[in-house]
Amino acid sequence: MSESSSDKISEIISEISRIYGADEWWEADSAEEVMIGAILTQQTRWENVRTAISRLKMHDLCSFPKIRSADPAFIEELIRPTGYYRQKARRLKLLAEFVLERHGGMENLSNMETHLLRRELLSVNGVGEETADSILAYGFMRDCIVIDRYTKRIFACAGITSDGDELRRAFEEALPGTSSAKRRIHGHLVEYAKDFCNKSRCEECVIRNLCE
Ligand code: SF4
Repeated sequence: MSESSSDKISEIISEISRIYGADEWWEADSAEEVMIGAILTQQTRWENVRTAISRLKMHDLCSFPKIRSADPAFIEELIRPTGYYRQKARRLKLLAEFVLERHGGMENLSNMETHLLRRELLSVNGVGEETADSILAYGFMRDCIVIDRYTKRIFACAGITSDGDELRRAFEEALPGTSSAKRRIHGHLVEYAKDFCNKSRCEECVIRNLCE
């Protein structure tokens, strides 16, 4: 990653922050809720995740002990709005097993060092890098930037087409601040992608204009 790419990332971060301000993103009541949401959000819109989480909460099923003992068919029914609900219900069961049986509960996980926790999360079937990093950043409040398809798309439009690891390193250089700044900028990138990229508003795009 060249120095100019890092500079470009800094410029993009400041433009996007100017638009979206200082709001925090991914509000949840607990780390467990973030972990459940990180599975549910795979390949669907956030609105659907919100609906599924409310339905789980309504039936007191938004926790791993409850998910572990619940009837899989009932979980499937509750999370149906997020799509791939059978696969996601299986993944939630596996995650519950991982938290409760392999690690003895959330508290033990929250005491683990970040690189070990990441490695452990990645060992769970259905938890890829993006899901693991979202859990680390928003569930365990670790200093971690999430590189997802929105981030890659936006940076590709700015002429930065590095792989995930390179982008992560460039972010670290451009944004050496606190973990909350990293959480916020990822949230802003997602919002920007929804507001501009998904609506084909490329003519108004500040990122494209930055590169011209
Ligand atoms: S709005 Fe269009 S040009 Fe701008 S980042 Fe999104 S896809 Fe790229």
